Amino acid sequence: MIVGILGAGQLGRMLALAGYPLGLRFRCFDPMPDSPAAQVCEQIVGSYDDEAALAKFATGLDVVTYEFENVPVAAVRHLAQFAPVYPPPAALEVAQDRLAEKSLFRKLGIPTPNFAAVNDRAGLDAALHEVGLPAVLKTRRGGYDGKGQAVLRTPADVDMAWQQLGGEPLILEQFVAFERELSVIAVRDLVGNFHSYGLIENSHKGGILRLSVPDAALTTAAMDQIALHFIRLLMLQLNYVGVLALEMFEVGGELWANEIAPRVHNSGHWTIEGAETSQFENHLRAICGLPLGYTYARGHSAMLNLIGGVPDVAAVLAVEGAHLHLYGKEARRGRKLGHITLRAEDEQELGEGLWQLQTLVDAAAVG
Ligand code: AMP
Repeated sequence: MIVGILGAGQLGRMLALAGYPLGLRFRCFDPMPDSPAAQVCEQIVGSYDDEAALAKFATGLDVVTYEFENVPVAAVRHLAQFAPVYPPPAALEVAQDRLAEKSLFRKLGIPTPNFAAVNDRAGLDAALHEVGLPAVLKTRRGGYDGKGQAVLRTPADVDMAWQQLGGEPLILEQFVAFERELSVIAVRDLVGNFHSYGLIENSHKGGILRLSVPDAALTTAAMDQIALHFIRLLMLQLNYVGVLALEMFEVGGELWANEIAPRVHNSGHWTIEGAETSQFENHLRAICGLPLGYTYARGHSAMLNLIGGVPDVAAVLAVEGAHLHLYGKEARRGRKLGHITLRAEDEQELGEGLWQLQTLVDAAAVG
């Protein structure tokens, strides 16, 4: 089978690398030549509104998927004429619009911060009346890694936030003083079979994910069940096929949904070595109509992102249980250049390895 991937970043690269042992072939599409995935499979370079380039990409494909959620829905719908597209374009549509996303959580009874749509300056005042302060003003579309948003703590912040973000459709959300950020990742196949990787604790700095720890010490089985219930509800509603991630806040021991990512997710990179079947392989199994693999963890794991700089490779590999993944990108401030998965047999070993790796990663990080 030939799998087409829209986008050619590191997620596409890791999908291809996971799929070759299954006998799959890959073609990626991206406006930027020599992207991370293009170093490991054929790439069609073109813009997402170039129908000729899309047709060239689609020739002979058995299935199409995407590796980032800002792919224009029109391109995805266009490609659906040539080959099945998974996850379904409707999931992409919801994930691209924070208002649609939060409205879906609300409709399904999944707790989420209070929110209101903002279309103009008067609408911001009305939303503030409904949501209160502190609040977060966000663009409905296009934001990532904390970009396109402003925190409003006092009435004095309102005008500044409007100057910064006004002029496009916005959403005002209640500011949540959360205890932790957690995600859950699950996979669903063409006939509705479902597996979950359980809760993952995520730490961010400067809006960018730095550390993910699955099955973290403070996570209870009851929380795991609730997260499973939420992601299953979403998958059923969206008639979902593939891997889905749900990002949440832990608030007073409860889970509140923040956003979904209809694709393999950075907080699931540990699954390459740390789970029986990785999120990348399971995504491919799901979209290709193959049986899903078990998702249970192999011992204990943690994942550290390499941001803006890469530590000495030999020093990383000298840490027992460390597995390095570089994405073939040029170093730039704040850019995700790779990640390290640490695997250990017990929590003490994990803690010791993590301390060594964290020192190396922090010293090399830029941004
Ligand atoms: P997002 O782009 O929605 O994932 O937001 C990026 C980051 O901003 C999240 O990972 C949180 O750390 C923070 N954040 C987003 N929404 C809220 C909120 N309603 N209250 C508090 N922090 C938030």
